[in-house]
Amino acid sequence: MRKIFLRITGVLLLLVIGLSVVIGINTARYKPADHSNAEAFALGADLDQAVQNLSRAVQYQTISAKRDQIEFDGFLSFLETAYPVVHEKMEMVKLDADTPLFKWVGTDESLQPVLLAAHYDVVPIAPWSLDKWDYDPFSGAVEGGYVWGRGTLDDKGALIAILSAVEHLISTGFTPKRTIYLSFGGDEEVGGLGAKAVAEYLNENDIQLAWTLDEGSFVLDKIVPGLDVPVASINLSEKGYVTVKLVAEADGGHSALPPRVTTVGRIARAVSRLQDEPVSGGLDGVSAEFFDGLGRHFSLEKRALFANRWLFNPLLEAILSGSASTDAMLRTTTAPTMVTGSNKENVLASQATATINFRIHPRDTVDDIVSHVIDVIDDENIKVIVDRDAASEASPVASKTADGYRDIETSIVSVFGPIASVPGLTIAATDARHYAKASDAAYRINPFIVNSDDIARFHGINERLSIENLGRGIDFYGSLLSKQ
Ligand SMILES: [Zn+2]
Repeated sequence: MRKIFLRITGVLLLLVIGLSVVIGINTARYKPADHSNAEAFALGADLDQAVQNLSRAVQYQTISAKRDQIEFDGFLSFLETAYPVVHEKMEMVKLDADTPLFKWVGTDESLQPVLLAAHYDVVPIAPWSLDKWDYDPFSGAVEGGYVWGRGTLDDKGALIAILSAVEHLISTGFTPKRTIYLSFGGDEEVGGLGAKAVAEYLNENDIQLAWTLDEGSFVLDKIVPGLDVPVASINLSEKGYVTVKLVAEADGGHSALPPRVTTVGRIARAVSRLQDEPVSGGLDGVSAEFFDGLGRHFSLEKRALFANRWLFNPLLEAILSGSASTDAMLRTTTAPTMVTGSNKENVLASQATATINFRIHPRDTVDDIVSHVIDVIDDENIKVIVDRDAASEASPVASKTADGYRDIETSIVSVFGPIASVPGLTIAATDARHYAKASDAAYRINPFIVNSDDIARFHGINERLSIENLGRGIDFYGSLLSKQ
């Protein structure tokens, strides 16, 4: 008996030692990409001029939700005066929603063109928040090392950085090998018909882009818990979108004589089932690539988990599902947002409804989500109405081994230093989903460092962009364009 016990203990001990060795070796091998010998890049463009241009750009109230045509026309004329060389050298067509598409003809026609994008429409200022701004939101104040105002971060800063880089490159005699398009959307915040028109224009003219670069992420500073190094998330895809309305109907009546399940009860039960059973997700595809990239920069214990996903995957998925921001990277999210019932406390609702908004992970489709809803609520007495017009599939996942990704990543590193760069996923909708329809790969990042304080200013109060960031942005686009 004792012999058997000793033998079992011995085998277990060997197993534990073996496992520890495998975990240790995997962890030791699991390192971030080495960017230490990346060369620093500085374009040498006129930053003071760019700051003035961003300040003036902010002063046009290009609010797409309440379109004032004078402001949009004024903004585009301002660009003509601020960037004369761009306007002289590049052809321009103006498409829907005052969206200009510029073309810079390259020297090698055999190469596929590329496209850089930004948008210049902005979201409105909530009236209640007006007196909370340190500077008038449309003043474009330049104070304390920042340009202040609506649109500096989202997304006039990127537009000014792109144009400042191109103006400088043309002025210094640079001509790209690839043809380069610049697209500046005039209605990104209200649906992006401008960007859609750009994609249609390119498709009609048989122009298939190698890649596009638009907003969708930033260089994130101390936003990922447990990471001290800034993370450039170069997003490869963006989530799709579908809203489903659940409708239960019955005879109304007095609340003193209710059926066992009222319409409100039926809808509540359905919503509760959908919350209890989220769309399945996990560490695969772009989600796995994102966390694999991040995992390499974590402390030893966490790195050991990510380096040994063959063993710890279920544990990691459970941990990542526990927080809203990481859970959104793993799966299609389920958000019940609106409910209706009777408008009187003692009246049974003849109709009750719930509205559920889903943000679709690239592994799922709109139809998958509709089937999921029908299966999970499991109630034939609830009508499931899908808003197909407003629905969109997730964008195709762009390659992270293609030239475009490599050029973007090396330009990020040459401007920001050896930070973490990872392929990611945009969890909200942007113009990039339209540009993806005319390109082999659509990438998404703004070349600005932001922390959680900056993120709160996004669509919020005291939006601002630091002058240092604007300078880095110009250098980034300069580096990227120089490689084309
Ligand atoms: Zn934006």
